Amino acid sequence: MFRTIKVALPFEQSLLQTAVAFNRACQTVLDYGSEHKVYNKNVLNKATYPQVRREMPNLPSALVQTARDEASEMLLRTDFAKIIRKRLSVRYDNRCFKFYPDSNRVSLTTVMGRLTFPFKHYNYMDTWKGEYTNAQLVIRRNKIFLNVQVKLPDVAIKAVGEVLGIDRGILNIAACSDNTFFSSKRLRAVKGRYQFLKRRLQHVGTRSAHRKLQRLSGRERRFVLDTNHCISKAIANKPFDVFALEKLVVNKKKKNGKRFNRKLGSWSYAELQLFIKYKAEAKGKCVVLVNPKYTSQRCSKCGFVHKQNRSGLGFRCGNCGFSLNADLNASRNIGVLGKSEHLRLFVNEPIVASNEASPAGIVDGSYKPMSLFIGS
Ligand SMILES: [Zn+2]
Repeated sequence: MFRTIKVALPFEQSLLQTAVAFNRACQTVLDYGSEHKVYNKNVLNKATYPQVRREMPNLPSALVQTARDEASEMLLRTDFAKIIRKRLSVRYDNRCFKFYPDSNRVSLTTVMGRLTFPFKHYNYMDTWKGEYTNAQLVIRRNKIFLNVQVKLPDVAIKAVGEVLGIDRGILNIAACSDNTFFSSKRLRAVKGRYQFLKRRLQHVGTRSAHRKLQRLSGRERRFVLDTNHCISKAIANKPFDVFALEKLVVNKKKKNGKRFNRKLGSWSYAELQLFIKYKAEAKGKCVVLVNPKYTSQRCSKCGFVHKQNRSGLGFRCGNCGFSLNADLNASRNIGVLGKSEHLRLFVNEPIVASNEASPAGIVDGSYKPMSLFIGS
């Protein structure tokens, strides 16, 4: 698995000038590529390399090459659209940077030669030690950051495991099949306050109001981020091996129903999902995604599916009379679906390449997926 280590670097001219030169090199390749409709790296290299070297003699050739690679990928992604590259960033591959977390420094190829920069040490850097595959230097508002990608050994995932179903919703950001809830009460209050302030500031319309508005949206964003971190951490720490979530479908053409659309609009569910996956992976656990169809209409006790089973916050089965909190009922269904999905994934392709997690283990195991029936 890959992780990103972010370090702040001193604001040095050598880095700034490297970024400016890299940007120009990238732009030269982009212009040529969009004009001649090519994205092939060899063709781009032949056509632009001499010019780039002539115009930016200080830019090391390794960076000229990563600039060309980045331009090539952008051309492919945007279908040769004319792009003006505004972002100041530099792509480093393993030839042109070396990361030393023990002595808190990083050496980077720059327009002024190979230089070493200090950074502040954080404890997580000691646990994230592996192969530092590439890095990205980013310059934003008088600050310079280096995002270093590190390849960590995969943690083996168990073939047979306890599954936790998680239903994401409005009243409860997450309802879990182990009868726990992450209520959205406080979130809604805070979000409402921000909304109120934003509306008032938009009405004022002055420059200082605009600045204040920007600060507010930054604060709101960090609040959402922090909340998602807390919830995902609590979930990943639960004594379960597999976390089942509904697949979020963001296809506009497809109708997901009112409940689902409301869910998508009001919270960063995709981010929460990413965080749960990220934190689970590090513990040798995994996330499976299930089809959201009928999860809120099906009775988690007898499997009977009917629209009228659900009314508001409650669920009451029209067949067996079972009643439960609606989100909890959905989370139990998601858990059951997750169990069979996890097994299916494991039989078809082991989730981890590690030899320890042999998929053959499941055959001998006593694990049986619960069968479901859909009533009329
Ligand atoms: Zn029932």
